[in-house]
Amino acid sequence: MPRTKLLAGNWKMNKTPQEALALVQGLLEALPETRHTVAVFPPYLALERVVDAVGDRLLVGAQNCHFEAQGAFTGEVSLPMLSEVGARAVLVGHSERRQFFGETDESVNKKTKAALAAGLIPFVCIGETLPERRQGGYLALLERQLRAALDGLPAAAAGGIVVAYEPVWAIGTGVTATDGEAEEVCALLRALLGRLYGEAAAGIRILYGGSMNAQNAAGLLASPSIDGGLIGGASLKPQAFAAIVAAANEVAAD
Ligand code: PEP
Repeated sequence: MPRTKLLAGNWKMNKTPQEALALVQGLLEALPETRHTVAVFPPYLALERVVDAVGDRLLVGAQNCHFEAQGAFTGEVSLPMLSEVGARAVLVGHSERRQFFGETDESVNKKTKAALAAGLIPFVCIGETLPERRQGGYLALLERQLRAALDGLPAAAAGGIVVAYEPVWAIGTGVTATDGEAEEVCALLRALLGRLYGEAAAGIRILYGGSMNAQNAAGLLASPSIDGGLIGGASLKPQAFAAIVAAANEVAAD
């Protein structure tokens, strides 16, 4: 059975709780009917309001978490806290966390396992920088990143993750990977997941992220190894995000 698509909006550090509510209400109005999954990742403080507003129409997740359930980690937010306000997913290892907040492959691995243990869906983000792409060897590097993120994760748990391939050079830059560039990597990741987890890998969705918008979404989403998108800028505009969902409807109608 083919995987349905997953379109996920990462709002980053945008929107106060009240603004977030207005955004999600606009989104609910703009969204077409769809059999695909639509997710949003608001800032922590807006989670509860957004969860209450969407009911079961959208999947709501957080943009980060700590891997410990509680303790002396000033300023951090734990998975039980997220779960209690209704978050059902969490971004792990987004490149902005890696770049600005010291996220490492090791912490990504701990967060991935902790999220699964807490019953949340980890969206495990990996991607290469522009110098890494230019040097060549980026496929091996991405394989290493994904292996490190999933180290020690048993096949029985692996079906509960989502993988997001987000080339760092495409995030927030307006430069999108071509359909072929994105497909090359997602196909490699699909093959790797198959080797690691066998049949359990079939349910894992692999998303592309990096300046996806209403214009380029159809081509990316039609690529055989791309199961959806992780979308930053365009997810802050209800019409643009809705157009991406409409593109998924078109390329994967049944
Ligand atoms: C992201 O934040 O994950 C992202 C892909 O951002 P943008 O769509 O703005 O490039």
